[in-house]
Amino acid sequence: MDKKLIYLDNNATTKVDDKVFEAMLPYFKEEYGNPSSIYEFAKKANYAVKEARGQIKDFLNAENEKEIIFTSCGSESANTAIKGVLEVNKNKRHIITTKVEHPCVLNLYNTLEKQGYNVDYIDVNSNGELNLEQLEAAINYDTALVSVMYANNETGVIYPIEKISEIIKSKNKETKFFVDAVQAAGKIPIDVQALGVDMLGISGHKFHAPKGVGALYVNSKTMITPLIVGGHQERGKRAGTENVPYIVGLGQAAMEAQDNLKYEMTEVKRLRDKLETNILKNIFNARLNTKVTNRVPNTANIGFEYIEGELILLHLSDLGICASSGSACTSGSLEPSHVLRAMNVPFTAIHGSIRFSLSKYTTEKEVDYVCDVLPGIIDKLRNLSPFQDELEALKKMKAAVNG
Ligand code: PLP
Repeated sequence: MDKKLIYLDNNATTKVDDKVFEAMLPYFKEEYGNPSSIYEFAKKANYAVKEARGQIKDFLNAENEKEIIFTSCGSESANTAIKGVLEVNKNKRHIITTKVEHPCVLNLYNTLEKQGYNVDYIDVNSNGELNLEQLEAAINYDTALVSVMYANNETGVIYPIEKISEIIKSKNKETKFFVDAVQAAGKIPIDVQALGVDMLGISGHKFHAPKGVGALYVNSKTMITPLIVGGHQERGKRAGTENVPYIVGLGQAAMEAQDNLKYEMTEVKRLRDKLETNILKNIFNARLNTKVTNRVPNTANIGFEYIEGELILLHLSDLGICASSGSACTSGSLEPSHVLRAMNVPFTAIHGSIRFSLSKYTTEKEVDYVCDVLPGIIDKLRNLSPFQDELEALKKMKAAVNG
């Protein structure tokens, strides 16, 4: 195979869908009116934003279009929800979250701790599953907010949001629940009413809309103060002239994602499973970092013991293959992933862990190519590893076990 791009980093960002791009185009040059203007020319832009809001409402199964706020990204959705709800409930100072959230949530909680909030970070087990007893025990009369991601960006593990919702309601009806669903959108169905959440954030560039647009669902019973103050756009919940082409793109991407869900959950999953099975079969001491089946269908996180993940990535990159170690926000730093650390992934594998994330554009041929070239790369790097004695001992142990 010629060197061409094989993009297996779709949890970092995705390619814009052709239909999304097409839908956006008129709103750059022809229909450039400000949706808030009252003259005829701006009506099209105003209608386009309205239509996109309806598309996102349907995508998330919200009850009402008024519950959808357009934002610039997943980070803004999370910041708006968290800061906005705390500001309204100023007398409550306790927050519960997990150790495996995205940095856009964790770093905000670190800041809030410095401002006097008391934050509990719930543990996960070695498969990345949340300790629900610990979460339940942590909820008290002072708990303003619980925030749990829907799916983890590094492992793909899906969290039991509906169950967590029930737990929260049984302990403190006033506690609000925010869900960062950035890695769930487009990979599994999202139904905010069935989930029973108060607020839920998504980001367009993770499901084939462009970078720079997101949305936040806030149910009609939840009050928030705006993060960005100014004009009355978004019913006073997010000031700033609406980014019409990108909002149109987000709405279109949501429709495409909804239509594609079945393919994602069957065909993308089949290719992901093929990749995992092949790697585990053909590469000595490769380990699946989570064994839970309740994962988004596109994500595989595999540890290659006694090698540096960054070196694997560079060798893959030489062949045009894009994957990732840790989240896109931390790759480039030598700190091992906070998610894998929380899961107690052994130190021998944590530095050599790679996330492959597929999309509807991933082909069988691409997966086969990665399966073909990866064993050679790992072999080469293991030969350079300073841990030759350990590798030799492991090989002997394995041979003895296999008879
Ligand atoms: N939440 C999760 C789980 C993510 O994976 C990401 C991005 O990787 C974000 C939030 C932030 O989204 P954005 O890049 O749109 O700000």
